[in-house]
Order: sequence, then structure tokens, then C-alpha cells
Amino acid sequence: MYSGEFDVNACLEYEQSLLEKFPFIKRKVLAKTVCQRDITAYTVGNENGVLMCGAFHGMERITSQMLYKFLEDVCLRYDTNIRIKRALLKCGLTVVPMVNPDGVQISIYGEKTAGCYKSLVNQSLKRAKANHKSWQANARGVDINHNFDAGYNEVKEREIQMGIKSPAPTRYGGEFAESERETQALCTLCRKVDFKCAVALHTQGREIYYDFGENTNPKSLAIAKAMARLSGYKVAFPQGIAVGGGFKDWFIDCFGRPAFTLEIGKGENPLEPEIFDCEYKEVFKMLWYLLSISTK
Ligand SMILES: [Zn+2]
Repeated sequence: MYSGEFDVNACLEYEQSLLEKFPFIKRKVLAKTVCQRDITAYTVGNENGVLMCGAFHGMERITSQMLYKFLEDVCLRYDTNIRIKRALLKCGLTVVPMVNPDGVQISIYGEKTAGCYKSLVNQSLKRAKANHKSWQANARGVDINHNFDAGYNEVKEREIQMGIKSPAPTRYGGEFAESERETQALCTLCRKVDFKCAVALHTQGREIYYDFGENTNPKSLAIAKAMARLSGYKVAFPQGIAVGGGFKDWFIDCFGRPAFTLEIGKGENPLEPEIFDCEYKEVFKMLWYLLSISTK
């Protein structure tokens, strides 16, 4: 359906077509970013089910497209298969396809899309000697996946060791945990809704992460292995700076329920939009499996 980069406009177009086709989708704006872009959640069936989120990072917008497509595929089945509909009415699906819309726009179109944060973005890029295309953070130069309250102080120490002490294109965790609207939006949602399981989509590496400390759910490894068997992805463990501070870490730490990070695709970020069809096949298998076992 979309051949180019999956930006905020593509989200809105996809949203419109889905809401027209499937009026049973519940749409909710969780928050507005500092650049006044919506962070939107869509639910099919019961809210207390599985949560799937994408585009925490600017270069990773292909994960938003994956989640819209998955939502569409789930809706088609909900609409036509009474067994699936009944299951979802007990334990449904909520997707937040684009957690960080400001970061996505900056990564595609540059600092001019950052509103009054334009000069902050500009300075951060200059300090890091980086191009806007490699922008991962939000418009305030905070990496959302370093901003969750899970081992936050340890993540902060590692950032400082790497010389990252102020807003940056990537890996700056902010002044304190949950300081950012994007992070707050997801935390508030999860504290309110009784999600059975959560998954965060990132790119790239074709890897599945499932653990974080002592609250890791005992079922998680078996689920991760089953997803790996279905897709050919590998079960892996984050290293160094990638440990802690992330959404799945926080979800595990907070609720002790299964949560996963899927590192979609293989190559260099941002992944080419052309890989979508081929990679989505594998992603679908994993997401559908997660949804199926949760609704049992
Ligand atoms: Zn990422």
C-alpha cells in the first residue's frame, strides 16, 4: 500500500482507511508530543489483552507500518471468524504503532519538522557530528528507550561513560526517568489497563529479547523460543548500553508479565521500505502467535 517512508501522514491515511473499513476499532489519543503530534492507540476487542508498540526510535518507522498492517489483518479475522471474535472480546489487541512521531519526522525530513525544538535538534546533531537521518530520539533529544524507569541509574552511568550527557540524536535518557510525554503516555496506559503481555518493535537484527532481571516471567523464554522457531529470528540478550531503560524492561520489572522486544529485519537502519512485504510475513507469525496464546 505504501511504497515510500512511513511517516506521520502515512499513519493518518492508514488510520482513516482502517476506521472506515472496521468501525469497531476503538481509537484513543494517549498524549500529544511537544510538537503537538498525536500518540494514538487502537484497540480491537477487550482492552485487557496484548499491547504492541512501535517506532520508539526515529529511524524505525517501518515498525509502525508493520503494526498498522497487523491491526488490519487482525480486524479482517475479527470481522469474519466468530471464534476469533469471541476470543478477542475476552482478551483483545491494543496497538500503539508510532510512540515517537516527532523522532520519525525529524529522521525523515530534518530539524525543520521539530517546531520550537528546531535549534535543540540542530545543536544536538552538530555536537554528535550526525545527520538528521540517524535521529532516534524525540524532539527534545531524549531517547525514549532510555527513559523508562527500569535500571535507569545504571543506564545513565553507561551513557555518561560514553560521553552522552545532554540531548542527543540517540542514547540520551533525559534528566529523570519518565520525563518525556511519550514515555508517560505508555506508562499511564499500562498502569490503567490490565495487559497480559506486551511487545515492542524495533529494528534491526532479527532478534527476540525477553528478559530483564528477577521479575522476568517464567513463561517468557518458552514463548520467545516458539516465536524464534516460527520466524527464524534468534533469542538473544541485550549487551552493554542496550540493557535497561527500555519499555519491555519496565513492563517486566513493573508487572512481572511477559514482554518482548522484537528487532525486526536485518541490515542498516533505517531499513529500506522495500523489505516490508518479505519481513512482515515473519513478523506476522510472531505477533499472531503472541495474540493466540494470550487469548487462550
Ligand atoms: Zn529501537
